[in-house]
Parts: sequence; C-alpha cells; structure tokens
Amino acid sequence: MKVGVLALQGDFREHIAALASLDIAAYEVRSAAEISSVDALILPGGESTTIAKLARSFDLFDLIKGRIAAGLPVYGSCAGMILLADRVLDSALGQETFGGIDMTVRRNAFGRQVDSFETELEMLGIPGPAIKTIFIRAPWVEQYGAVVSVLASVEIGGFSHPVAVRQGNLLATSFHPEISGDNRIHKFFVDEVCSDLSSRT
Ligand code: GLN
Repeated sequence: MKVGVLALQGDFREHIAALASLDIAAYEVRSAAEISSVDALILPGGESTTIAKLARSFDLFDLIKGRIAAGLPVYGSCAGMILLADRVLDSALGQETFGGIDMTVRRNAFGRQVDSFETELEMLGIPGPAIKTIFIRAPWVEQYGAVVSVLASVEIGGFSHPVAVRQGNLLATSFHPEISGDNRIHKFFVDEVCSDLSSRT
C-alpha cells in the first residue's frame, strides 16, 4: 500500500516521520500523477484556505475531491479535518473543501483563550493510555450526520465537542498526532481505516 501525504503546505514532513516511526514508507505528493498513484492520503495540519487555494491553482482540487468521493482512505489532521468537512463555519470568504465527511466544522473554534493547548484524551479504537493531544488554532465538529462516528471529544463549559471522527474510509482529528510523538492514530489509520474495504463507499 502506498501512502501519500499532500505536500502543498503545512506539516507534511511530520506526518511522513510519524509513519516512518511505524516502518511505513510515505511519500510527499504534489502532482496529479503522484496523487493518482497513492492508495491512501493524509491531509496535514497547516492552513486549510491555503491548501485549498494551492490545490485549485495547481489543478489538483477536483482530482483529490473525486478520489475521496470514490473511496480513497484519507486521514486529515486539523486543517486536514477542515478540508474533509462537507460544511465549514467561520470559513474564509469563498473557502472550499474537498468534503467527504457529513459534518460541519467550526474553524479556530477554541477561541483566543485556548488558541493552542495540550490535553489527554481517550479515543475509541485506540487502546491503552489516553492520547496526548496538541491543538493549534484547531477546529471542532459542530454538527454531524448519522453516518459519522465520534471517536473523541473535548468537554468545555459542560458541552462536548467532537475532535476525532470517522466516516467509513475517512478519519479526521482536530489535533496533531504528527507532532505529539504518539503514532497510535497513524497506526489506527493504516491498520484499521485503510484495510477496512467493507467501509468503502
Ligand atoms: N486554523 C487553521 C485552518 O483554518 C488550522 C490550524 C492547524 O492546522 N493547526 O486551516
């Protein structure tokens, strides 16, 4: 299986290093030929507006959107989560997403006070100790359809905000396991999401 990391902008190198720590070779992809050749794709953290604009200007946007819709396993962290959302709140003017997950995310949802923070979270599907999670100007999931499974949430002021979700072949987290040194979410993506052919749409 060939795993690509979309390398237009953002922390794609950290995702490649996280996969390398699991002995999984991953490749930077930034051309149509490279994107067409992968069996799974990671959309990194970074700036969702910039990644979408670059994908548009390099004529990759519809290719990526089409591959996602056709069942390509994709994991998106932070900006990558936004790019996988069908709907975005507090989006930039005209902001586009590849979509695929029936959810509405709110960009920069945690606000200025907790712009960036670390916490420990239990996540469904990831056994063992709680995961150390790092949030950087992160989105949360504000609304989601029945086909979406919530894997982890953050409690704020008595409200529970989903921060890790899965819909079939698509996995998204508000946080950045690629920089926390805990590679269990990458392992979950490769072992569970990518190999679950029954979940392909
Ligand atoms: N706030 C950024 C966005 O809207 C995401 C931040 C991140 O990926 N750390 O794309």
